[in-house]
Amino acid sequence: MPALAHELLDFRSDTVTRPTPAMRRAMAEAEVGDDVFGEDPTVNRLQRRMAEMLDKEAALFVASGTMSNVIAVRLHCRAGQELICESGSHIYNFEQSGYAQLCGVAARPVRGTGGVVQVEQLRELIRPDDPHYVRTALVCLENTHNRGGGRIQPYETVEAICRWAHGQGLRAHLDGARLLNAVVATGIKAPEWTKHFETVSVCFSKGLGAPVGSVLAGPAGLIAEAVRHRKVLGGGMRQAGILAAAALYALDHHVDRLAEDHANAGRLAAGIRQIDGLQLADDSIDTNMLFFRVDPSLGTAMEFSARLERCGLLMLPTARDTIRAVTHLDVGEADVDRAIELLGNAARGGVSRRD
Ligand SMILES: *Cc1c(COP(=O)(O)O)cnc(C)c1O
Repeated sequence: MPALAHELLDFRSDTVTRPTPAMRRAMAEAEVGDDVFGEDPTVNRLQRRMAEMLDKEAALFVASGTMSNVIAVRLHCRAGQELICESGSHIYNFEQSGYAQLCGVAARPVRGTGGVVQVEQLRELIRPDDPHYVRTALVCLENTHNRGGGRIQPYETVEAICRWAHGQGLRAHLDGARLLNAVVATGIKAPEWTKHFETVSVCFSKGLGAPVGSVLAGPAGLIAEAVRHRKVLGGGMRQAGILAAAALYALDHHVDRLAEDHANAGRLAAGIRQIDGLQLADDSIDTNMLFFRVDPSLGTAMEFSARLERCGLLMLPTARDTIRAVTHLDVGEADVDRAIELLGNAARGGVSRRD
């Protein structure tokens, strides 16, 4: 029986959340102005607040995490230069190689374990000063790491990589789309993480539950330059305070509660461990995400998730045998228990009856 849209249990991503009534009220009541003139008081308030929270001189409100990351690459690299990143990273895989298309920059991907690379893997990667080669300019890290299963980068690893990068004259950028998940899960405050990087990107549209937006934070001079890059990318928005108000609301009300998402992901993982034919890709769940493998006897990940969808449960196939599930503001503990039940039913049904 097809479920109504609002009855679907949607675990595909933490981007599917809808603004709550209170968030919508904050948006409706936002004081606005023309942000291209720098005159939107709500955007300005959000930017100041994020600069403070991330302990950077300035921050810029942008349309998306993708825009934030590509602006960062443009700030740190010229055409003919290269950035180093983890091979499963969002920048490398899911942003249409904007670094190449829009910046003329090459990428040097390094395979990590669960999204975590070690400084020893990077030491030999600096290109020699020789006209045959591009010039190495930037290291990008992702925290938490999306394809690493919401993995928190070990703090010492981040510190070691950035210390090495700066010692080599490279810059460091943090794709912190879900940095606040790492902050809440570890208790390590945002400035402790961000102090190792020139620039940091944070998304409001993920676990924080706002409909739109990210910020790029960094030194005032770089962020002033970022305004130009945002404009040429078509990202100069006008009465954007309506969106910034949602982000401010999320900062007031949706940060500490990320711990609930983490507990729910752990609960979902515990349920999946009990289901024959499903296996967690990584047994330890750091934050609000998990990946699990579907035994071939249950069909492909695509077939299995289609079976789930017919019962009103949405999860995201990410490889032939792998599915991702993400917890967020719009799925509570009872929804997790229902999801475990539906997964169990689908796994049992799949063994006896292929559909
Ligand atoms: C979602 C995400 C982004 C950017 O996403 P947008 O959809 O462009 O806002 C960047 N990095 C990571 C790790 C992400 O998960």
